[in-house]
Amino acid sequence: TDWTYAPAPESKAAATINKQYNLFIDGKWQQPTSKKYFGTINPATEEKLSEVADANEADVNKAVTAARNAYDKTWKKLPAKERAKYIFRIARMVQEKARELAVIETLDGGKPIRESRDFDIPTAANHFFYYAGWADKLEYAFPNRRPQPLGVAGQIIPWNFPLLMAAWKIAPALATGNTVVLKPAETTPLTALKLAEIIQEADLPPGVVNIITGAGATGAALVNHPGVDKIAFTGSTEVGKIIQRATAGTNKKLTLELGGKAANIIFEDAPIDQAVEGVINGIFFNQGHVCCAGSRLYVQESVAKEVIKKLKDRIESLIVGDPMDKNTDIGAINSKEQLATIHKYLTIGKKEGAEIYQSSCPIPKKGFYCPPTLFTNVAQSNRIAQEEIFGPVLSILTFRTDDEVIEKANNTPYGLSAGVWTDKGSKVFNMTKRLRAGVVWANTFNKFDPTSPFGGYKESGFGREGGLHGLEGYLKFSV
Ligand code: NAD
Repeated sequence: TDWTYAPAPESKAAATINKQYNLFIDGKWQQPTSKKYFGTINPATEEKLSEVADANEADVNKAVTAARNAYDKTWKKLPAKERAKYIFRIARMVQEKARELAVIETLDGGKPIRESRDFDIPTAANHFFYYAGWADKLEYAFPNRRPQPLGVAGQIIPWNFPLLMAAWKIAPALATGNTVVLKPAETTPLTALKLAEIIQEADLPPGVVNIITGAGATGAALVNHPGVDKIAFTGSTEVGKIIQRATAGTNKKLTLELGGKAANIIFEDAPIDQAVEGVINGIFFNQGHVCCAGSRLYVQESVAKEVIKKLKDRIESLIVGDPMDKNTDIGAINSKEQLATIHKYLTIGKKEGAEIYQSSCPIPKKGFYCPPTLFTNVAQSNRIAQEEIFGPVLSILTFRTDDEVIEKANNTPYGLSAGVWTDKGSKVFNMTKRLRAGVVWANTFNKFDPTSPFGGYKESGFGREGGLHGLEGYLKFSV
């Protein structure tokens, strides 16, 4: 695909917006039992984009029943190489519709079109390609263990990478022979519904993938349904804990990808300009709505002044505004509620005695926006150094020694990711071993690839998605 041209023809995206969507159950578009729909808003303009169905328990039951029937009657019996063909077909269709999907993702969620076009959609397609390749090689992946599917997978995803999260969930589930009921987040359902159209067009047997929209109650109904064999959840630690309690004592296999408060560490020997760029990308990519965002910067004291000055200069050059503009660096905050949460933390940070610095870039009057923000003078115990803000807000702390930074970096309830910037390979290896984080990047940040496992330590969750490890969460082994 040539990504250098302007994104999608508006007309195609227009066909997706201003629409009323039903639930995708058993290969058909079905009205919600309650006949209730809710609006999805463009956060850049505050205008309604479309209406989607609000699935209740009866709808969840229909979807799980369809997934169970599809599992028993068709999917489980299909040779693995046939399953692979379907997944491969989905990958190709995501690629073919990439421009349209990118526009919808940006309209629905507020992320810069450059990011949906160059990252979200191609990476989603890559996940389908990658897992299509595994479908008929499971015996080789897990020798002497007799891998078998679990049955029906219930999957619940957040709003920060809507299509990509759907691909992370659906691709390995199908490759391992499971059937799926997926619930996207209530503020960003549109690309998942577009994916349902793709799945229909790709001619998957009815019921193999069901996509149902709704809010937390719909997710809870899916979690509690006795016909579900596996719950894969990505979202907040708070809801993750609720799901953990709800599935305790059942036979449901559970994987949780939860929140984070990643430490990005700059040592004095680091290539400073490269590190500054990495920190900028680490926290401002996708408005900071990233579970592994580098939201805590630890900079060695000897270079702190220089790094902070460079960061302040750099955020002045970031363009905040219309996510559909290809020059935009920071788009709209996903929802009014999320903007209120970010504002709450800005107040908390100031009250805690930290110093705030915001770029002077003008922001649109309408829509939900927040300028890139730095906090200096932050103490380790401050809430802005401990809690996930999920916005374009960086807390900057300093350190003197390796032991001190390890102690501080590991001192939060989370453990999803971390970054290390240094010129010394030995330091990279040493830090990687000592940082309690599922992913540690060295001299880079926010790099994702379908071949690499991703997941948390501590309250960031358990289980891995991506790579070979990502298959395990959807399998049981008889040896
Ligand atoms: P959220 O927990 O509020 O919602 C996530 C999903 O769960 C949504 O689809 C929501 O409708 C559903 N839900 C809400 N209550 C539920 C319940 N009681 N039972 C079942 N489902 C329920 O999270 P969010 O605000 O959408 O997303 C942001 C969070 O997700 C952040 O904390 C972020 O760090 C995390 N996240 C983690 C990863 C990761 O891979 N670790 C990736 C992306 C986002």
